[in-house]
Amino acid sequence: MNLFVANWKMNLLRADAQKYSEALGRRIGNGPLKVELVVAPSFTLLDAARDRAGRWALAAQNVASESEGAYTGEVSARMIADAGCRYGIVGHSERRRQFAEDGPMLARKLARCRESGLVPIYCVGETDAERAAGLSTTVLTMQVESLAQDPNEAPLVLAYEPVWAIGTGKAATPEDCRTACSHLRLLLPERSNLRILYGGSVTPANASEILTRAGVDGFLIGGASLDPGSFAAIAGVP
Ligand code: PEP
Repeated sequence: MNLFVANWKMNLLRADAQKYSEALGRRIGNGPLKVELVVAPSFTLLDAARDRAGRWALAAQNVASESEGAYTGEVSARMIADAGCRYGIVGHSERRRQFAEDGPMLARKLARCRESGLVPIYCVGETDAERAAGLSTTVLTMQVESLAQDPNEAPLVLAYEPVWAIGTGKAATPEDCRTACSHLRLLLPERSNLRILYGGSVTPANASEILTRAGVDGFLIGGASLDPGSFAAIAGVP
């Protein structure tokens, strides 16, 4: 089943989240869904973003690399699972870049997800400079190394998010996505439960072309997911 994840980043307040949930719920209705929807709000908004009817799941935007203890300001994978999240986003490029999250730290975050039963949404993707230098696949290969200790049989979501496409309005072409996704699948031949998402300036206008031509299993959506109508339109619901 295709998967669509709304990454709200550091946006919205509780009243907005409540309105969003009501609007998304109205838009979806009560019929069976042919896609899986996930909302990734800030921690303070988890309750307001929760769907009591279970039509969408929750994801945390970040997961602590340690299990528990003296890590002021961090939120552990166990706490996140305990708060009702099914997924945890790990390795978003904004965290790699702005919070210096490196490969070994991301491997620890992936391990914490597994210990707590969270399914990781592990983000990978090259920068503009890396792409210009012809290093796109090399970068993906290096970033996938953080999964070396992750069990092959466990469900995994990989999000291919080229940094140059995030928040720029310049989405990757279906061909770019197809090349990256084929490379990622080749790197992970033993994975029996792998979905690959694309993320980067997805909108209702470009979603269906990328989805049908890029060989992806859904999208991780930032800016366009802040409007419940455009999130639903991208996901093709109802
Ligand atoms: C993201 O930050 O994960 C993302 C894909 O953002 P946007 O859709 O705004 O490019």
